[in-house]
Amino acid sequence: MFSKVLIANRGEIAVRIIRACQELGISTVAVYSEADRESLHVQLADESVCIGPPASRESYLSVPRVISAAEITQADAIHPGYGFLSEKSGFAEVCEASGIVFIGPPAEAIRVMGDKSEAKRTMIAAGVPVVPGSDGVLESLEEAEATAERVGYPVILKARDGGGGKGMRVVTRAEDLEKQFQIAQAEAEAAFGSGAMYMERYLVKPRHVEVQLAADKHGNVIHLMERDCSVQRRHQKLVEEAPAPGLDESIRQRMGEVACAGARGIGYHSVGTMEFLYEDGDFFFMEMNTRLQVEHPVTEMITGVDLVKLQIRIAAGEELGLSQDDIVARGHSIECRVNAESPYHNFRPSPGTIQALHIPGGPGIRFDSHVYSGYTISPHYDSMIGKLISYGGSRDEAISRMLRALAETRIEGVDTTIAYHREVLAHPDFQAGKVDTKFIERMQSGNGSAKGAGKGEQPQA
Ligand code: ADP
Repeated sequence: MFSKVLIANRGEIAVRIIRACQELGISTVAVYSEADRESLHVQLADESVCIGPPASRESYLSVPRVISAAEITQADAIHPGYGFLSEKSGFAEVCEASGIVFIGPPAEAIRVMGDKSEAKRTMIAAGVPVVPGSDGVLESLEEAEATAERVGYPVILKARDGGGGKGMRVVTRAEDLEKQFQIAQAEAEAAFGSGAMYMERYLVKPRHVEVQLAADKHGNVIHLMERDCSVQRRHQKLVEEAPAPGLDESIRQRMGEVACAGARGIGYHSVGTMEFLYEDGDFFFMEMNTRLQVEHPVTEMITGVDLVKLQIRIAAGEELGLSQDDIVARGHSIECRVNAESPYHNFRPSPGTIQALHIPGGPGIRFDSHVYSGYTISPHYDSMIGKLISYGGSRDEAISRMLRALAETRIEGVDTTIAYHREVLAHPDFQAGKVDTKFIERMQSGNGSAKGAGKGEQPQA
């Protein structure tokens, strides 16, 4: 096992990883930018190194600075968390070349899955069903037109290098394709440095269902059930749950098996997630996230497996120590992403100082966060305050506990998404398990109990 791990991240996930290391008896090194001096991850770690100014490019995304910090502190491994360097295959390679273990998958698996069109090709070869679409990157408008004719409208244009729900455009009619293709390319160029686009059939009312995977360096691969992340705003997840409500047992099993086959196909090790779209009994591979996910706690709650400790043990060369039959889901878990945003003003960020804070507790409630009373949420990074997670013996109990906990939470000084989460959780369709990726749109258009947050607003895509 490692004796010292450097955490190349900030915020709640840095804190989550430090906690796992502490439980494993591993010393920790925090890195931080000048904007994060007062951050909890810096206070909780055994050592800390300032790696630069607030801009991520010059701190959390700077490979030389992160590697130097690991060398100075003699860390034997680096945990990248999610975001930042976690899915940069070049970073994993530099770690390896520097004799530092990257706590994540092989660099080649990151590279293949990071190129969304190559990822789809690889998955087809492994026998995984994918959304019908272009064969790789679209080389021209003519090819886009021909592909759209073949798969049928509506279609979605996606940036090869996109992520985080960005760089996607839905085209419903042939006459809009040329314009949308140009806009999408320009947007992708500006946001990701490449205008490379591919195309898929746009499913109208799918559910986002993803399978949690764990694989060791000895060829053992298992899945830890699925999560439903259909409650999304502008393709970004707001509420996640495990297991997926009402999912047919045979589908669940097949999805798990297919996901494991996909992971084997690329020689994967570490934890990872295979994302699928599910519609009318069919499911299609969308992408694989080769890292720990934000929503990993709901899986931990129903399986009893600590995914971060498992990930560290795998990186250290240990065997999984779990077989597929050991994974038994019990009860239900829900996560709400509590952000410093104004949900009734188009979710605009609301950075500032938290003046007062009361975090709920009681049975079945967990709060993963890096904030404290007096903490200032910086405008430089994402606006997450923390993740509120509930667990119950049944979905109904997980919902009632979440509603109880949301009502009790007090965060003063910044606007938060809590009131919006209460609307979601109280919505009759959510309570009935009728979730799909259009749920939020329906809720906002005033269908049901919603008060009409951002009423009339259309999703970007
Ligand atoms: P990102 O990597 O940016 O998060 P994804 O490919 O995971 O992008 O897609 C994010 C969300 O966009 C999905 O969860 C789903 O709601 C929607 N989406 C993506 N592809 C399709 C599609 N082919 N049809 C319908 N919705 C889609």
